[in-house]
Amino acid sequence: MPDRASDKTLYEQIAEHLEQRIRVGEFPPGSLLPSERRLAEQFGVNRSTVVLAFAELRSLGLIESRSGSGTMVSRPEEGAIRRHSPDWGRFADDSSFVRNPAMFRKVREALQQIPGLIDMASGELSADLMPTREIVDIMSRSSTLSYLGYDNPQGYPPLREALVRYLQRLGIHTTDTSIIITSGSQQSLYLILRCLLSPGDAVAIEDPSYCYSLPMFRTAGLRVFRLPVDRHGVNPGDIRLLHKKHRIKMVFLNPNFQNPTGALLSNERRIQLMDLASELALPIVEDDPYSLTAFNGVPPAPLKAMDKAGSVIYIGSFSKIAASGLRIGWMVAPRSIVEQLADARQQMDFGLSVIPQQVVATFLDSAGFEPHLERLRIGLQFKRDLTVDALRHKFNDRARFWIPEGGMHLWCSIRASFSESQLLEQSIRAGFVYVPGSVHGSESGCVRLTYGRADAADIDRGIAALRQAVDRAEADE
Ligand code: PMP
Repeated sequence: MPDRASDKTLYEQIAEHLEQRIRVGEFPPGSLLPSERRLAEQFGVNRSTVVLAFAELRSLGLIESRSGSGTMVSRPEEGAIRRHSPDWGRFADDSSFVRNPAMFRKVREALQQIPGLIDMASGELSADLMPTREIVDIMSRSSTLSYLGYDNPQGYPPLREALVRYLQRLGIHTTDTSIIITSGSQQSLYLILRCLLSPGDAVAIEDPSYCYSLPMFRTAGLRVFRLPVDRHGVNPGDIRLLHKKHRIKMVFLNPNFQNPTGALLSNERRIQLMDLASELALPIVEDDPYSLTAFNGVPPAPLKAMDKAGSVIYIGSFSKIAASGLRIGWMVAPRSIVEQLADARQQMDFGLSVIPQQVVATFLDSAGFEPHLERLRIGLQFKRDLTVDALRHKFNDRARFWIPEGGMHLWCSIRASFSESQLLEQSIRAGFVYVPGSVHGSESGCVRLTYGRADAADIDRGIAALRQAVDRAEADE
């Protein structure tokens, strides 16, 4: 961000900054610079300031503008030798890697570029709900960091042992050799997709689902089929049909306080589902970051706790119950799978840094863990209530939603006619961000409101901004 108190003008500062980025190769010769409008947004200045900065760079011969094709970094001619840079833009465009949905990138960019936005988009806890004091305390003890070398790619053994004790409270009885530590559920999903499945395989995921926000399913070349979610979760009958019709090889579920709907799979369906999985020998991936946030203090029993046939790969995470920035997750799986995935970790990055693993191992067994969870549940429930009250008050019967009993997401269908991109645009202008329903694979008209991340003091104002945005988006239709 340019410094408004500096002796240099804003445009000079921006020109210097862009010049440096060009010289270090961030924008090589022949590549396109971001548009004037985009840079103006990024630097928080008027577009005319960026126009002046571009004029300065043009006079230095560093950039060229071509009408219709944007502003390009010049290709220098030195003596008779013409230097050629690789066409990096083509490398990026031609790879088989699928980028995040445009709507999702827009939300991310708004959060990075516009200070003060009320954030009900990011799927994480607010800082006051994280155990920062406890973690700082643990890190400042010299005994915490006992070893700093490469570790076992399956994960730091004392953390796996602490997790065996932790998982018992959820009714999961396992051994340290059945656990692999990952850098969060995201990496667990990635490892499963890339190391256990092959392009062309058919899998089933919930609809709507967190997984829809993950282009990694498409990058992996999988055929993805949908399982509609109602307030009691997915219907096992739908899984049977998909298995018959498409020979699905794996089912991905988030049964407890689902992201994005908050749905809780009913007991009856859990029993049916586990019977079906063992009848069809069908692997289930249970993504369970939220069960310990159950507001009544009684976590729902995971599918893994009912898994007599060994059908379930269980994915857990520290992100939603403590701190997403520590990047600690885990999987519980049959030995052969754990070995294969540990081998993949060895190839990928030699396993996770031992530092957060040592910290989390200590925290899980500490006297501070239980009181932290209690505070977390109270804090989340309080913000859920504020969100529900604000929606009722500002939207009356125009917002329809289920009230989640745990987790951090509320899925809301808005009765109004608007285009999704218009609503997002208007909402960002009004100072509020959420996740548009289509990011999670749903029909338009739904929004995901994450009360975990927003400050309690901002929720009412945020929902009022959303209401204003709906009115404006409707007027624009
Ligand atoms: N699964 C679900 C259901 C989630 O909500 C999230 C976070 N939004 C993740 C996986 C990834 O979380 P992390 O990698 O931080 O554990």
